[in-house]
Amino acid sequence: MTESELLASVPDGLLVDGQWRPASDGARVDVLDPATGQVLTSVASASVADGLDALDAADRAFPGWAATPARERAELLRRAFDLLQERREEFALLMTLEMGKPLAEARTEVGYGGEFLRWFSESAAHVQGRYGANPEGTGRMIVTHHPVGPCYLITPWNFPLAMATRKIAPALAAGCTVVIKPAALTPLTTSLFAQLLIDAGLPPGVVNVVTTTAPGPMSEAIIADPRLRKLSFTGSTPVGRLLLAQAADGVLRTSMELGGNAPFLVFADADLDRAVDAAMIAKFRNTGQACTAANRFLVHSSIAAEFTARITERVRSLTMGRGTEPGVTIGPLIDEKAVAATGQLVQDAVERGARLHVGGTASDGPGTFFPATVLGNVPPGSALLREEIFGPVLAIVPFEDEDQAVAMANDTEYGLVSYVFTGSLARGQRMVERLRTGMMGLNVGAVSNPAAPFGGWQSSGLGREGGEEGMHEYLQTKYTLTPDPFA
Ligand code: NAD
Repeated sequence: MTESELLASVPDGLLVDGQWRPASDGARVDVLDPATGQVLTSVASASVADGLDALDAADRAFPGWAATPARERAELLRRAFDLLQERREEFALLMTLEMGKPLAEARTEVGYGGEFLRWFSESAAHVQGRYGANPEGTGRMIVTHHPVGPCYLITPWNFPLAMATRKIAPALAAGCTVVIKPAALTPLTTSLFAQLLIDAGLPPGVVNVVTTTAPGPMSEAIIADPRLRKLSFTGSTPVGRLLLAQAADGVLRTSMELGGNAPFLVFADADLDRAVDAAMIAKFRNTGQACTAANRFLVHSSIAAEFTARITERVRSLTMGRGTEPGVTIGPLIDEKAVAATGQLVQDAVERGARLHVGGTASDGPGTFFPATVLGNVPPGSALLREEIFGPVLAIVPFEDEDQAVAMANDTEYGLVSYVFTGSLARGQRMVERLRTGMMGLNVGAVSNPAAPFGGWQSSGLGREGGEEGMHEYLQTKYTLTPDPFA
């Protein structure tokens, strides 16, 4: 399929109650290719009224979907998984076009995103309660789980497919209906995926899609509506805080997958080959635009020079370009704002005394490119040690001993993921206990897995996605007491 055939096959409306339709006020939004700056296509941009229509549809569909046998819900997800495998290339190319990631990485995301469909298809029929005598022996306690109700899902632009399936799959498996709002920068993958769900047999109203250029007012109206029972958000911490405040009025269940500032610790006893390979993945996957991206490379002073030299050499071999081109390993950043923000972080560190080993300056257009960059000896106080970089900039800071490394790693308001490289089992175990983090890669540079509870501590969020925990985000618990049937 050519690029234009693929783009023409993507629904360009809002999905409300099983129908693709234009926005009520006719508004549309252009979707750009970040590698060229050219308009790929345009899609409908929802008004507040469209958002509320979508919630209305999700609310009406909820009783029927909640009462659908778990196995039927599971089979829908399984059919969707199978269809996604057949259409892997379409989804991979579409993500590369609208988001910019290299095609090989887009294919990996189709694999990863698809696995949420399979995992929650397998989990749907395994939700069980419990029954037993109370400790006093005077009654029987029954614990059951029930879908929370209509959910509002907000996703970011950096993983257009996986962030959608990570929310939609457990919601549907649990018996919930959803309204999803993808990022307006990358709405196409969500629309194509919603059509795939329809092709797999999705009943009307169970999934509704409302892309919009004005997420604030529409989200506020949906969140304030008492029919909504759950908000699941993936995005930046400031927007997450705002939404949590809005959700307080309705005492909504919330899941918040927010920002990160991952430390990547390399101890003197680490296998350096392994650490360098993992660093390349933890830093440069998705051109550094991942919440799990390693943000601060804390390296023991005795090996910092060698680590820096090896990383710099590897970075020189990366190829920047449009993600569709063979051999490209660094795609564009999502937009000009991202290029400017990345440049400022590099400049700030250099002005404070960091050493620039490679990269460092944004490329001229077209497209929004920033080259892979390595900074050594980054001094304390540099903004990029505090803020999420969200670009291909690898910042190295030497440390002297384990206590100092732990103190530096924990010196952040975030706590999403940490990476530790050491040859010592005991040290690895100490890091598991000492680092304030929701996830940890111990001698590995990528941890995401649909079977694992993904999520952060502190300002990195609330709740978990994936694993058994991911399903319970969409279930509420009921406890019932009955008298002892023998009394
Ligand atoms: P963002 O917060 O700007 O946007 C995320 C989503 O929220 C988008 O759909 C956007 O349209 C919407 N949004 C923005 N303002 C809103 C408002 N006032 N009301 C309602 N919705 C609003 O984040 P981004 O730039 O798209 O994504 C990058 C951020 O996402 C990074 O901080 C990254 O760490 C985080 N992220 C976290 C995870 C995780 O699982 N923890 C995964 C991916 C990305």
